[in-house]
Amino acid sequence: MEAVLSWNDLTQMVKNKQVDTVLACLVDMQGRLMGKRFHAQHFIETAWEETHCCNYLLATDLEMATPDGYQATSWKKGYGDYVMKPILSTLRPVPWLEGTVMILCDVLDHHSHSPVSHSPRAVLQAQIERLQEMGLTAMMATELEFFLFKKSYEDIQVDGFRDLEPISGYNEDYHIFQTTKEEHIMRPIRNHLYTAGIPVENSKGEAEAGQEEINIKYAPAMLTSDYHTIAKHGIKEMAWQHGHAASFIAKWNHNRVGSSSHIHQSLWRDGKNAFHDSSDALGMSSLMKNYMAGLLKYAPDCTYFLAPYINSYKRFVKGSFAPTRAIWSIDNRTAGFRLCGEGTQAIRVECRIGGSDLNPYLALAAQIAAGIAGIEESLDLPSAAKGDIYQGDTGLVPDSLDKARTHMMTSDMLRTAIGDEVIEHYARCAEWEIEEFSRIVTDWEVARGFEKA
Ligand code: ADP
Repeated sequence: MEAVLSWNDLTQMVKNKQVDTVLACLVDMQGRLMGKRFHAQHFIETAWEETHCCNYLLATDLEMATPDGYQATSWKKGYGDYVMKPILSTLRPVPWLEGTVMILCDVLDHHSHSPVSHSPRAVLQAQIERLQEMGLTAMMATELEFFLFKKSYEDIQVDGFRDLEPISGYNEDYHIFQTTKEEHIMRPIRNHLYTAGIPVENSKGEAEAGQEEINIKYAPAMLTSDYHTIAKHGIKEMAWQHGHAASFIAKWNHNRVGSSSHIHQSLWRDGKNAFHDSSDALGMSSLMKNYMAGLLKYAPDCTYFLAPYINSYKRFVKGSFAPTRAIWSIDNRTAGFRLCGEGTQAIRVECRIGGSDLNPYLALAAQIAAGIAGIEESLDLPSAAKGDIYQGDTGLVPDSLDKARTHMMTSDMLRTAIGDEVIEHYARCAEWEIEEFSRIVTDWEVARGFEKA
C-alpha cells in the first residue's frame, strides 16, 4: 500500500514549517493508540528509526492499571521497555489537529528486536502470513457504530456518567433530517478521515437516538484494522473538539440498543474475490463455504475477541439486531453470520457478533484463524437458516465474558493458530476484567438492596 504521506513529503513539510508534531503510536490490547508526540524535527532526525515505551502498555486495562499474572511483564520483571518501530507506510496527516502527522509503530522486543507476539498488530500479521502461504488475501471491512452525546467527556465524568443524554431525541436510522443536526461533527469526521487516507464510504444514522455508523471501504485486513483504529480515535477527538462525547461502549444503557462492529469478509486470490463462483446457486465458492463453516464451528472460541468486556455481553439481546446465535442466513439481520452480495462479485460474509468495543486486529485475526481451520478441515457448511433466528437454542453465542474466556482458553484451534503465549496473555486480560467487576459494588445492587434487602 502506497503511503498517504511519503518520507519526502514529511521532510519537506517540516522544512516549510507546515508540520511540527509527529504522533508515534502503537495499538494497545484495547485497540487504543498509545505513544508519544514528537517534535517533527527530532522525529525526522533520529526518532523515525525507533523509540521506546514501557512494556506495561501491553499488560494493562482501560484504566491503565498494572494487574499481576502476566508472563510477559510484571513488577518482578521490572516493567522494562519495548521498542516502538515506526512503519513508514502508515505515515499520514492528522487534519483535525494543527501541524500534526501520525505514524503507527510495530512493537518489538527491546533486546532481540523480534515482534512481541501478543501485540495486536503482530497477532493479526501472523494470520495474514498464513493466508499468504495459501495464496490468499483477506479483504475486510468493519462497520463501526457509536453514540454521540450532548455533553463533553469532562462534564459527563463530573456528572458521574449519570443522566447521559444522546445528541438526538429519537431513533435516527437512515434519518437525513436528524443526522443533518449532527453534521457539525459528522462532516468534519468524514472529511478529515478521508484526507488522512481513510477511504470513508459514508456515515448514517443508526437505530437509536444519537447513534451513528461510519462505513469505510474494504481493504486488506491490516489496513482495515488501521482504518478502524484511527477512525475511532479521530471520532473521539473530533467529538471532543466540538464539546460533545462519542462513546464506543457496546451497551451504554440496558433500555437502548447497543453498538456493533460488523465484520465483512472475503478472501481474494490474484486480485479477484475467491469467494465467488458463478456456477453455485448463491454464487458461493467451496472455499467460501469451508471458510464460513469454520467461522460457525469456532464462533464460541472467537467470541472473546469480538466481545472483550463484561459490558460487551449486555449487547446480545433477542430482537435487538445484535445476534444471540452463531448461525448463518441469507441477507437476514437476526443471524450471527449474514451472507451479503449473493450471486455477485461482491459476495462476502458479515459477522454480526462483534461490538463497537472490539479490538479490530484481534477480532480479524480470530476470524481468519477460524476460517483457515474451516478450509483445512474441509468443513461442510450447513444449510442457511430462515426466519427469526432469535427463536431457537442451537449455536448460542457465549453470553458472558467468563464463558467466552473459557472457550478461548480451551480452544485447540486458537492455541495452534495464535499460540499458547498469546492466548494465555489475553485469558489473563479477560480474567482481570472479571476479577475487577466481581470486586466492585454496582449502582444496581445498591438501588435494589439498600432498603429492600
Ligand atoms: P450494507 O448496506 O448492507 O451495510 P454496504 O454495501 O454498505 O452494505 O457494505 C458494507 C461494507 O462491506 C462496506 O464497508 C464495504 O466496503 C464492504 N464490502 C463490500 N464488498 C466487500 C468484499 N468483497 N469483502 C469485504 N467487504 C466488502
